[in-house]
Amino acid sequence: MSKRCREPERTCVGCRVSQPQASLVRFVLSPQQQLLVDYRQKLPGRGVYTCCDLDCIVRAVERKQLQRGLKIEQLQVDVDQVVNMITKILLQRIENLFGMARKSGQAVSGSSAILNSLKRNDSLAFVLLSDDVSTGIASKVLTAAESQRVEVFQMFSKGRIGEILGKGERSVAALQAGKLANAIKLEVQRYKRMSREI
Ligand SMILES: [Zn+2]
Repeated sequence: MSKRCREPERTCVGCRVSQPQASLVRFVLSPQQQLLVDYRQKLPGRGVYTCCDLDCIVRAVERKQLQRGLKIEQLQVDVDQVVNMITKILLQRIENLFGMARKSGQAVSGSSAILNSLKRNDSLAFVLLSDDVSTGIASKVLTAAESQRVEVFQMFSKGRIGEILGKGERSVAALQAGKLANAIKLEVQRYKRMSREI
């Protein structure tokens, strides 16, 4: 088997399973000897990997595997702090990707536009509902999305969704199918695994 064809793999220090490196979260030490999440896996130096999964991170922290892997046994690591670092990065990634989708004209927003799109069976990859959407709008969108088998996520406030899309408050947004939509879906899945929503 040619080595070139294989994706590099690393072992999660939480569950000890080898996974493609790109699917894992990399941790490094900053020059000030602080724990950093190297989400893009580009920072120099020794790195330790975990799955992007709350259980693996809890296990890695409880068993001091991050410290051991980074050769800094005395480092204090707090699970909540690590989880916060990762979820913050994930939210930022999702926002950035959404911003790119808006610039390339792949984002749709507003409940009536989205309900119409769903009715026309336009190729929407997913619908995003804000955390503070009204129950009336939420149930209409959920019913329409379900009938077209379009996934629905719920995150961000309507103010934040509006900001990401460069508009006023938006309680519903959607993305047309494509690479950006797939990239966002992946990050949303990771976010959910970190916040124990799935
Ligand atoms: Zn793991």
